[in-house]
Amino acid sequence: MIGDNNTNRNLWIITGLASIPFAILAFVDPAKVKFPHIYILFVGACLFNGLVVPFVLFKNEPDWIQKTLALGVNMIFATLWIDYTGGTSSIFYPNFYLLPIIAATMYCGFIDSFLTAFFAGLLSLWFQYNELGLNLAIIGETSILVNIIFFFLLSSILGYLIKIGREQQASTMKITSELETAYHQLSASHEQLQSYTEIIEKMNKEMEQLAITDELTGLYNYRYFQIALDKELKKNKFSVVSLFMLDIDNFKLFNDRHGHLMGNRMLAEIARVIKENVRGVDTAVRYGGEEFAVIFPGMDSNEVAQLAERIRKIVENTYIKTGAGEPVSVTVSIGVASYPRDAQTKSELISHADLALYDAKQAGRNQVCIFKKRPALES
Ligand code: GH3
Ligand code: MG
Ligand code: MG
Repeated sequence: MIGDNNTNRNLWIITGLASIPFAILAFVDPAKVKFPHIYILFVGACLFNGLVVPFVLFKNEPDWIQKTLALGVNMIFATLWIDYTGGTSSIFYPNFYLLPIIAATMYCGFIDSFLTAFFAGLLSLWFQYNELGLNLAIIGETSILVNIIFFFLLSSILGYLIKIGREQQASTMKITSELETAYHQLSASHEQLQSYTEIIEKMNKEMEQLAITDELTGLYNYRYFQIALDKELKKNKFSVVSLFMLDIDNFKLFNDRHGHLMGNRMLAEIARVIKENVRGVDTAVRYGGEEFAVIFPGMDSNEVAQLAERIRKIVENTYIKTGAGEPVSVTVSIGVASYPRDAQTKSELISHADLALYDAKQAGRNQVCIFKKRPALES
């Protein structure tokens, strides 16, 4: 109904027309009309105002049943109330119906409508007891025509007020819905932004992981080894940190014999053996081409040497097949050094583990050596 000129015009006309039966009713002298006729007219007027008018007003609206009933029930209550308060004896009696009609049209709520009907009744009483209706000079001799004109004027003004009220309500609703849309759009963008942030964070983590991982073996790389050893030495300042360095024996020869690809497969295999035989707290890295290192926090040289020996044996018995189906294996040499027994600094620990590895190579390879102090190297 809002914003539609046709329906607004209909509203005014119908509201005015709805008053006509009451206007007639107001000027009928019950004494001159035969018994049932006045009531038939009264009931007809009630039905017209209570059912036909609300139906015409609301039939195009989604909740027209509810609104029609709201107005209809309101009209019946208003009628009873005005009749009870004696409003029917006033010449303005029909006008009082206009108020509940307007109220119900505007709000379509029971409470608003009943309150209006109640005040219509009070107004009726007031008119009656002050005989104001009869004394209004402007109207003078009342007639049906005067009443009808009065109704049309009143309903036009009130209809116009309804129109303004509804338009304001509509614009408020429009602004509210626009705000809601903007809010939804904003929260949708926010959600999208959040999901992008999550993706970026995930990618960052993956990049970080990639930056510290050796591609071929899946172990940590040299860069991470430096960071991890620093961290472990700091953390275990008053404890023990051991390091082993592992180098494949005669790997150049292996590559020459079986090819670089087989060499790579062997590297991955040794990495797997190392990973499977160290603890979760140990840090296993690919230190260089065919060299591996493991940091063992809280383990001394002897314990690490035992574990290294186990790894050495497993590697010795690990075979991979060449393209021709021939099983091949390699051996490894391992050097072990410990903080604080063999070294005081990170670089010392690395170089002493390397020296121990050199000892293992010198002693014939395929063995584990613990770092031994030697006078020439002591600083
Ligand atoms: P040693 O017992 O003294 O360690 O002898 P070696 O032949 O293993 O030692 P050397 O340092 O002379 O050679 C290391 C070889 O390791 C050289 C290179 O062919 C091989 N190598 C290094 N990185 C890779 C790699 O990523 N893949 C393969 N397949 N071979 C590698
Ligand atoms: Mg080497
Ligand atoms: Mg080697």
